[in-house]
Amino acid sequence: MSNAYEITKHEYDVLVIGAGGAGLRATMGLAATGLTTACISKVFPTRSHTVAAQGGMSAALGNMGEDDWRWHMYDTIKGSDWLGDQDAIEYMCREAIPSVIELEHFGVPFSRTEEGKIYQRPFGGMTTRFGEGTAQRTCAAADRTGHAILHTLYQQSLKHEAQFFIEYFALDLLMDDDGACRGCLAWDLASGTLHEFRAHAVILATGGYGRAYFSATSAHTCTGDGNGMVLRAGLPLQDMEFVQFHPTGVYGAGCLITEGVRGEGGYLTNSDGERFMERYAPNAKDLASRDVVSRSMTIEIREGRGVGSKNDHIHLNLQHLGADVINERLPGIAETARIFAGVDVTRDPIPVLPTVHYNMGGIPTNYHGEVVTLKDGDPDAVVPGLFSIGEAACVSVHGANRLGSNSLLDLIVFGRAVAKRCGETIKPDQSVRPVARERVDQLVGEFDRLRHASGSESTASIRDRMQQVMQQDAAVFRTGETLQQGCERITDVRSAFDNVKVSDHSMIWNSDLVETLELRNLIGNAVTTLMSAENRKESRGAHAREDHPDRDDDNWMKHTLTWMNEDGKVQIDYRPVHMYTLTDDVEVFPAKARTY
Ligand SMILES: Cc1cc2nc3c(=O)[nH]c(=O)nc-3n(C[C@H](O)[C@H](O)[C@H](O)COP(=O)(O)OP(=O)(O)OC[C@H]3O[C@@H](n4cnc5c(N)ncnc54)[C@H](O)[C@@H]3O)c2cc1C
Repeated sequence: MSNAYEITKHEYDVLVIGAGGAGLRATMGLAATGLTTACISKVFPTRSHTVAAQGGMSAALGNMGEDDWRWHMYDTIKGSDWLGDQDAIEYMCREAIPSVIELEHFGVPFSRTEEGKIYQRPFGGMTTRFGEGTAQRTCAAADRTGHAILHTLYQQSLKHEAQFFIEYFALDLLMDDDGACRGCLAWDLASGTLHEFRAHAVILATGGYGRAYFSATSAHTCTGDGNGMVLRAGLPLQDMEFVQFHPTGVYGAGCLITEGVRGEGGYLTNSDGERFMERYAPNAKDLASRDVVSRSMTIEIREGRGVGSKNDHIHLNLQHLGADVINERLPGIAETARIFAGVDVTRDPIPVLPTVHYNMGGIPTNYHGEVVTLKDGDPDAVVPGLFSIGEAACVSVHGANRLGSNSLLDLIVFGRAVAKRCGETIKPDQSVRPVARERVDQLVGEFDRLRHASGSESTASIRDRMQQVMQQDAAVFRTGETLQQGCERITDVRSAFDNVKVSDHSMIWNSDLVETLELRNLIGNAVTTLMSAENRKESRGAHAREDHPDRDDDNWMKHTLTWMNEDGKVQIDYRPVHMYTLTDDVEVFPAKARTY
């Protein structure tokens, strides 16, 4: 089949797939160590979803009050509801400090304090002295932090002469018979040609899969492509049941209103004008972690205290902050609220609703970013040549629930870690092992089959069904019944994909085929999310089951692994949570009850 297509071959020391914050931090670091580095991205790098990150990036710098990375570590473990791997969390919180300072030196224009230090704001779940006080830990460039980071990293990557392949769509991984990853097959959307990239290491930095849901804060490009590729390579995804709902998506539009608004003093009210978070979380109030706030809002609405004509949303108030604070610290939010909710935030509250925001689950890795799997009884078996970072990965530093501002941190810390690891293990200019022709032929064959798929259902109609199933059956609150129904309905959606119809058969700018390939990836994510959620019979972090309301550490303090075979059957197994730290500087925090 590959004879029918001309395939251009490329060889690099390292190939990064994805040019968001994670991919660019890795690309920059790899190129700077002298490794030949290619970065491919389906969108122009600075259009990656990271550009939309508003609130900021956590690091215990202590610029605006006392702080300590151990307190950050404690908050992250507690926020993860004890599902995070503590060695990786220690690494992230400790390395946060040099990582942010480096970003500052690379040129990220952070907001400043009076003394000229990096400005830091409070964020949900971030405390001092192991839960006693409120930490000001989130480093911000106004409310456009992701934008500032992404542009800086792209410029730095160019400076170090990384090679970019822009608007190239990665189709699948080139796996060797011995289980190692050797590269990937990609499609250049502009010229319509296929490309075989070979490298000593492939780094998946393809972002999350928010678009499996109907209402999400994420960009339309967040389709979990790397996760889909990993499933098709016969490798597992981890903890897919944990999907974070952000408390404050704009009602109707889904666009995000950053938690930084509540960090700056904004608060939620119900139809009685009551600040109801005081009832649910007397200490943290509006800055309790996202799972807690999203559930509290859902309960208020369910019990008839929602606002609006249908009593189906909540108000976020920031009028009292005054125009000066809003213009200086939250200018983007004022604009978003004006455009998407028609609200002048200096006068009126913003209508908001919990909206899908982040995927804690993804490709399992260790804290070097190396992809791991369960093999011959070893739960930490490294897959040679394959790395993953950013929202695509599950390190797992966020466990069952991510704290706000810990994702930008995760991108930068583990993007940097991967560059270090590859710098230590890969010698430049050694030839890359060839890939079996049969594997390339097989992948080209699958691409060709989809390109000419002549079933009876359109990509858009199957996608719509998938998004409705996820929205209804894998929601903020879950029950055994809705999850079982969800598993059946998503299995039907997967079968419907066998009958997909692609109308445009061209190779150049074929958005019909791009969307079909993205849907194939989304479906893998959706199926594993529902199957894992049905399987986990407890409530933990973002996974709230009404039929199993308590956390069950005896049976469920473990990571879910899900494999999916070609006909959509899912196999489930587990990896233990790393309850140990990297160094003796910190004691292992005992599992204990929630104390919000
Ligand atoms: C609106 C919003 C606001 C947020 N605010 C914050 C915040 O303030 N603080 C915080 O910590 N977190 C925040 N988050 C979360 C955080 O921004 C994301 O988790 C993070 O940016 C993801 O980065 P990434 O590098 O993993 O992926 P992305 O930025 O999503 O980039 C993915 C990259 O992969 C490429 N790609 C994907 N598939 C393919 C393919 N098949 N072929 C080629 N390339 C491909 C894309 O082109 C893109 O370059 C926010 C998220 C959203 C949605």
